[in-house]
Order: sequence, then C-alpha cells, then structure tokens
Amino acid sequence: MPKFFIKTYGCQMNERDSEQVAHSLIARGYERTESEVEADVVLLNTCSVRDMADQKALGKMGMLGQVANRRPEVVFGFLGCMAQARGASLLKNLPHVDLVVGTQKFHRVADYVEQLVAAKNGRARPPDAPPNRRIDDPRFSIVDVGEEAGSQETIREQRLAPKQATAFVSIMQGCNMHCTFCIVPQTRGAERSRLIAEIVREARGLVAHGVKEITLLGQIVNLYGRHEFPKIDNKSPFVQLLEAVHEIDGLERLRFTSPHPIGFREDLIRAFEMLPKLVEHVHLPLQSGSNKILKAMHRVYTAEKYIDLVQRIRQAREGIAITTDIIVGFPGETENDYKQTRDLVERIQFDNAFVFRYSPRRDTPAASMPNQIPEHVKEERNHDLLNVVNESARRAGERLVGRDVEVLCEGSSKTNPARLMGRTRTNKIVLFEGADEFVRELVDVRIERTTGFSLYGTPVIQADAETATIAA
Ligand code: SF4
Repeated sequence: MPKFFIKTYGCQMNERDSEQVAHSLIARGYERTESEVEADVVLLNTCSVRDMADQKALGKMGMLGQVANRRPEVVFGFLGCMAQARGASLLKNLPHVDLVVGTQKFHRVADYVEQLVAAKNGRARPPDAPPNRRIDDPRFSIVDVGEEAGSQETIREQRLAPKQATAFVSIMQGCNMHCTFCIVPQTRGAERSRLIAEIVREARGLVAHGVKEITLLGQIVNLYGRHEFPKIDNKSPFVQLLEAVHEIDGLERLRFTSPHPIGFREDLIRAFEMLPKLVEHVHLPLQSGSNKILKAMHRVYTAEKYIDLVQRIRQAREGIAITTDIIVGFPGETENDYKQTRDLVERIQFDNAFVFRYSPRRDTPAASMPNQIPEHVKEERNHDLLNVVNESARRAGERLVGRDVEVLCEGSSKTNPARLMGRTRTNKIVLFEGADEFVRELVDVRIERTTGFSLYGTPVIQADAETATIAA
C-alpha cells in the first residue's frame, strides 16, 4: 500500500483542505504516514499570508531534496496558497518537485498523484522519455493552478479519527474584500459559497459519526452567500445557515471563524441570543486601532464602530470571549497610530489576540506603499503589544479559577499524554486528569489554576468525591 505524508502550513482552512486531500488518497488505497522519510508521496499544503510561511515551506521542500536523491521514485508536491501564487516557477529551483496544485484544485490531487506515481515507476513512462524527469517535460510534472467553477463544493469529505470530538466544515472559498496587506484574494479567488443543504448534509454526517462540535470556516464567514442567496425575514444567508446547522440533533456546539466586522449585523448578534448551541466566542479581526491605518488597510470600519460592535456582542451573550488579529508596523504607522491600537487593546481586554508584524506580500497594494516601517520598530511594537494581550488573557483565565466550566474533551494533551485536553465554550484550553471515557464527552471541570493560556482543573465529579472523602 503506497504511503503519503501531508504537512499543512497556515490556517484552519488549509487544515480542512488537507483533510479533503487525505480523504481522497485514502479512498484510492493510500495509507497516511507521519514520516516523510518513509512516504511514497510527500505533499506540502502551503500558506502565503506571511513571507515566513512561504520560506518555511520552501525550506522544507529544499531539505526533502535529500530524500529525492535517495528515492527518486517519491512524488513531491506543493499544494494550496503558495502553489497558487507561484505556480510553475516553483519547479525551477526545486527540480525534485513533481506537482503544483492551486487552491481550486484540491479535488484533483489524487488523480495527479496516481499519474505521477505511475510515471515515476515506469508504468506510464513514454518510450522516448528520459530516465530522469526534466522540469520542462510536462509528462513528468503537473502544474494546475487554474480556476474551476464549483470548486467550493468539493471540500466536503474527511476521515474522522477514532472518537473525534470536533470538526471543521468549509462553507465558502475566496474573499472580495481586498485588504491592502492581504494576498488571500489572489490565492483563494473571489467569494464562492456552498449550498446550505450541502453544508447541512456534511454536518449531519459528522454528527452521526459522533462529532459534538462543528466550526464553520470561511475567509469572511459572516458574508457567506451574499452573492448567491437572498435574505429571508431580514436574515442574512449566514444566519440562515447557522439556524439550519443548529437544528441538527446531537450537535452540542457550533462555532464559526473568521468573521469580518463589516457584515456583523443585528441578525447575527441576535443569533447569539436565539441559538444556544452557538458558543460564547467570537474571533473578530481588528488589525489596527488607528482609523488612518484602517483606512490605508481598506478595512472599511473605524475603531469606534469596532468598539460599538464588541459592546453589542457582549450584551447579546453574557461571558462571551472576544479574540482578535492585529497587525503592527503597517506602512505609515506612526507612534501615535500604534498607541491608538495599544489603547484600544487595553480598553477591550481581549481574551486573546494574534499579533503579527506586517509582512509585505508580493503584488499587494501595501507592499509598495511609502513609509515602510523598519523591522526593529515592528519588533518593539509586537513585543509591547504581546505584553498587553498576555495580561488581558491571563486576567480572562483567572476569572475562571474556582469555577465549574463545561469542557468538550478532545483527547490526550499533546504535551503530556497523561492528561486530557478539552476546550471551554469560550475556546480556552483546559487540561485535566481523568479517564479515557471522558474523550468526546462534555465534562464539567473545576478550574484550579491558570498559566495564562491554559487552564488546569479536575472533573467536578472527581473533585466532589475527593472533598467528600476528606470530609469523611
Ligand atoms: S477580509 Fe481582508 S484580510 Fe481577510 S481574507 Fe479578505 S482580504 Fe484578506
């Protein structure tokens, strides 16, 4: 049985795309391996959001050249965003790469892999073919980065691990927002949404296999369906979708990521009042607290509107966690602009935030803007803002100490297999000791301490028993 290895860089959408590719290869008789050295097919599903992500994937593929020298029959491929952005140019400096597949063609990967495996093993090698693949010979490399109508409907299958508690469902592809720093509209194309009925069918199938929590994924998830489907009763297609998935019997929790502040309207805020399975967590990218920078980023909201939105979301659901993404060092960001971001972050008290140093991306408007910020300034702002974020995250964790919280147990902790790991409805990681029977169950855990980002506790049932024993 041939083996494949797939490594994913970047966001949850990439993770989901990789699972689709894995599913299609397993369906053809391939076996998944966690070791690239023993694999017959090595695929890197890439990210282009920051230069570092590009470089990591390129570096990894470069190192895999040693495997290619020892085992020339192995198929090597780039998939996803960087593949889409760079196309055939990826073959030039990495001659062992056989396959480059863009973001609208994940469903074709298994076909291409089979062709390449056959060719490399001589079964489909044309009689006049040279013994070693030449990079300009299309018979021995496949590059497919074209657009394909309906490709958003092809990310719909996945293999579930035993007792898998949570799953991602991709509901749309692409983005039309054109933030000036972002390469996604180039790598993922224009917004295209799946049908509600298809998404519900996939979600229902996952729940039937025991999944308790579903996260709906999209680049701007709350703008789902805006070009394809009408509003009904003043509800956006996204809210209609939330209601439809919420109906599924056996589903315990419903999440979505990531929304855009634009389009986070009253119907969506009301959904937090009406749909109890919708969890108490919104990841709401802020990017900057300076209106001047937001405008230069083409984010089309102001800091004041963002604050107002957060207040309305917090009013709609008590205890809701708000997390965010922030970019520091965007071109033209002065000390005063940065201070406005810092002040806003202090004021909102996010439960957590991802802070990024601005990274120029090829062919994006911001890359050629004047007043690019020196790296050491970006670094200082990044470090300073992380301190602010860490402090508010620590406070959010400490507010839970001594309380009983509902945790969906996902399995063993990756860092300490003796412990179980799960998440609260507010998406905080909880580590606790307990029996394997807790896996994929909702467990009430008494929180005893926090280290900032992780919470530690004991299942209430155990904690009460221990207390009773001591009292006796
Ligand atoms: S909303 Fe902006 S940052 Fe998000 S994917 Fe679209 S263009 Fe990129």
